[in-house]
Amino acid sequence: MTETIREAVARRRTFAIIAHPDAGKTTLTEKLLLFGGAIQLAGEVKAKKDRIQTRSDWMKIERERGISVVTSVMTFEYGDNVFNLLDTPGHEDFADDTYRTLSAVDSAVMVIDAAKGIEPRTLKLFEVCRLRDIPIVTFVNKMDRDARDTFEILDEIEQKLALDTAPITWPIGQGKTFAGTYHLTENAVRRGDAEKERTPVNGPDSNRAAGLLPDNDRPAFIEELDLAREACRPFDLKAFREGHLTPVYFGSALRNFGVRDLIEGLGDYAPAPRDQEADSRVVHATEPKMTSFVFKIQANMDPNHRDRIAFVRVCSGTLERGMKAKLVRTGKPMSLSAPQFFFARSRITADEAYAGDVVGIPNHGTLRIGDTLTEGEDIVFRGVPNFAPEILRRVRLGDAMKAKKLKEALQQMAEEGVVQLFQPEDGSPAIVGVVGALQIDVLKERLSVEYTLPVDFEMSRFSVCRWISADDKLEVERFIDAHRGDIARDLDGDPVFLAPHEFGLNYEVERWSAIRFASIKDYQ
Ligand code: GDP
Repeated sequence: MTETIREAVARRRTFAIIAHPDAGKTTLTEKLLLFGGAIQLAGEVKAKKDRIQTRSDWMKIERERGISVVTSVMTFEYGDNVFNLLDTPGHEDFADDTYRTLSAVDSAVMVIDAAKGIEPRTLKLFEVCRLRDIPIVTFVNKMDRDARDTFEILDEIEQKLALDTAPITWPIGQGKTFAGTYHLTENAVRRGDAEKERTPVNGPDSNRAAGLLPDNDRPAFIEELDLAREACRPFDLKAFREGHLTPVYFGSALRNFGVRDLIEGLGDYAPAPRDQEADSRVVHATEPKMTSFVFKIQANMDPNHRDRIAFVRVCSGTLERGMKAKLVRTGKPMSLSAPQFFFARSRITADEAYAGDVVGIPNHGTLRIGDTLTEGEDIVFRGVPNFAPEILRRVRLGDAMKAKKLKEALQQMAEEGVVQLFQPEDGSPAIVGVVGALQIDVLKERLSVEYTLPVDFEMSRFSVCRWISADDKLEVERFIDAHRGDIARDLDGDPVFLAPHEFGLNYEVERWSAIRFASIKDYQ
């Protein structure tokens, strides 16, 4: 039976997991899938992780792109909810990929190692979430090992992230004595994820709750819980949804503690697919007409065919197989004849997708990152960001006869979001830009393997790149005229100013006060 759009939207939770490497993201992902009934995929997550420990391994696995596609989006059901978990790349050098993925989620789970607290990458990813007002649910993992004091962990989150905390569960013991979680508002206990339901208890000093701990730990636990109730903030849904407060869950992904608490928490509190801001209006998730945007492209799944999968997040309406959509950038219709749905449990192709769902659309280069697809309306979603590259290189090609092929290959890689491509105004060879150094290796490898183009990369005289704009178009023209040799155009034809160093940039920033020098460009 077909669900109504309203019902389908209300059930959906689309989220990502953010964590510092080793905090337990992979293990938690597996357990979420396991409890969500998507067992066969759980093994694949681990398999993928195991094989990408080193650089060269990473290259190999990228070539076996089938797996990345499968794990790019994982859908599972739990209770009444449908969860779409979007995977973010593990390696720091692919940060822009992560940021684009975060543009397609409605909430994020922040995994923290109970012994290590907030680590640098957690902090960075958190800041991106905050910038985008993405509500955060916190999972304090590895409670089965020596952990920090629970109050100390909460305090660190508050201090380092300037984020209020509201513990929803409280760990019963920790390290060797970790025995389960106590639900603070429900007054109920769960002794691990093997128990589907929590057992209601009459407070922490009830036989059942206290009985979980060794005799000498009991009084301390009872006291701690009293203190928690007095000292900690109660959960406030509005503050959470606005990004000021995080509900906190404790557990051990490895030993199956607290994962069910977390899933249920996401179902109860995390927002359903949000209203999405477009250029001319706000689109509500429950509107009948389909709208969606492309946030990720995965190309050359099969090197013999230049096919690509565009990952599309549905923002409203129903995306149905066979429907005709309008690609707003070109104004042309596009038939969605074979959209792929990634239902982890059975992986059968579903016929309909709703707001919050992610669909893979095979195409031959028609779709680009940031593209909007609609049922006819001319609106453009904003917010899939492009970050100014921090590494700029010129490509040197051994065989000059292949210049045209190189141009096409770079264009395709740029459309896929692997690199950014800049065409200097003075006609000199193209400059490629990346955010992380490893991306250059990937580019080199892929040009060689997929396009048989052996290339080298030369230092460019530039190291800083900014998109330039101004309220007065003439001012931009004047700036461009005065800096011809330092101006290039990106894939969309938008001008960037290239400088050899920050100092050179700052010099111009001071002299040209009407010009905006942007380090982030939203795809349009
Ligand atoms: P990721 O890098 O964030 O994806 O982390 P992994 O899930 O691969 O976990 C890193 C290491 O921590 C692995 O050796 C896991 O087995 C281990 N680990 C993950 N969760 C837990 C946990 O709850 N308790 C303990 N003791 N170890 C864990």
